[in-house]
Amino acid sequence: MPQSKYLLDESQLPTHWYNVVADLPTPPPPPLHPGTHEPIGPEDLAPLFAMGLIEQEVTAERYVEIPEEVRDVYRLWRPSPLHRARRLEQALGTPARIYYKYEGVSPAGSHKPNTSVPQAYYNAAEGIRRLTTETGAGQWGSALAFACALFDLECEVWQVRASYDQKPYRKSMIEVFGGTIHASPSELTEAGRKILADVPDSPGSLGIAISEAVEVAAGDETTRYALGSVLNHVLLHQTVIGEEALLQLAMAGDTPDLIVGCTGGGSNFAGLAFPFLREKLAGRMGPEFLAVEPEACPTLTRGVYAYDYGDTAGLTPLVKMHTLGHDFVPDPIHAGGLRYHGMSPLLSHVYESGLISAEARNQRSCFDAGVMFARTEGIVPAPEPTHALASAIEEATRCRETGEEKVILTALCGHAHFDMGAYDRYFADELDDRPYPQEQIDDALTRLPQLDL
Ligand SMILES: *Cc1c(COP(=O)(O)O)cnc(C)c1O
Repeated sequence: MPQSKYLLDESQLPTHWYNVVADLPTPPPPPLHPGTHEPIGPEDLAPLFAMGLIEQEVTAERYVEIPEEVRDVYRLWRPSPLHRARRLEQALGTPARIYYKYEGVSPAGSHKPNTSVPQAYYNAAEGIRRLTTETGAGQWGSALAFACALFDLECEVWQVRASYDQKPYRKSMIEVFGGTIHASPSELTEAGRKILADVPDSPGSLGIAISEAVEVAAGDETTRYALGSVLNHVLLHQTVIGEEALLQLAMAGDTPDLIVGCTGGGSNFAGLAFPFLREKLAGRMGPEFLAVEPEACPTLTRGVYAYDYGDTAGLTPLVKMHTLGHDFVPDPIHAGGLRYHGMSPLLSHVYESGLISAEARNQRSCFDAGVMFARTEGIVPAPEPTHALASAIEEATRCRETGEEKVILTALCGHAHFDMGAYDRYFADELDDRPYPQEQIDDALTRLPQLDL
């Protein structure tokens, strides 16, 4: 029988996270203080993040050891499986071999616990009492609530209003794990009240929700803030995905030609891609890397590469990244996890260095791919990774014409069990598919912070 699943045992769980910064041709530009525009130091971040995480944010070391307490929690679901999508290949009639690394086996149903667990661990180890955060689709909020439950931390979540209304069961899940949840913008913070005064029915945005969570963390000494994507330490934690996949593809006797993932803030894509990028930079393999984003939030493909705030109110450091402007409010598309105005500065730098490419897709083509995948492989993909699946299917279809036996590896970063409403809307033909209007991007970009660099 042909093998369709490649499993590692617990003893093969990675012992270290991989930091791609150590191997890049040039270092990424530093974050700047929002007031002075000077590079920030660790002490500037201390009110917001645990020291253990700040050290990881700035480290140039190639490998960072995973604490045993974190590996012990990872073992609840890791190593995660690598599947060969044989039935999808057959349905496409392609000679390409398609593999997917499935992160939906985690307690929250996505890759997010790979970083929520170490973030809760380092904060608890430093005596912090509570973590605040934002969430879009609710994946990150539920992942952090889960991790906080294991390390006895309180967890307070601001969820983007549009998603809060669309996906009520993520709220229930956060509450089951012991977290508290508010719709954002909320009346609980200055940032939220300011937005509501201007736009009482604001659908919210990740940028606004971040402002609210950061404001509360900055105002309390025993509270810190946790971010589920974008930052260097988050991408670092996610590299367990790629390290495992390297071993699993070797078990399958294959090396990848194309690695494709969806990008919101960049963490699941980078988590899969960076260990393979290390191998490529060392000349051991030659895969191409493709990041796929929604047309409604085209950060890499239509944003500018500039210093901008990570949040709407301008409370965070300035980071150089691909951005649509910090006051960007996206249309309420279903891939809630892909609606951030910016992109990981590290992934933006890797993109500017010419090491990866990117493309944008409309919702309908993504759900087409999601349904085809569900009907062949049996997993209903979250709306976010359907972007990557659509590109993988397109490439495999091209291989049918050319006869190329390409090896395609994709990140199936979550399932859709809390997002079925999105599939309902797709079947009812109610998905709105306008690309984001250029005037709105141009307008938001006029409000980028002005730096004399
Ligand atoms: C959060 C999330 C994303 C987007 O975040 P990245 O940092 O780009 O990975 C994508 N897919 C799922 C399932 C998510 O939960």
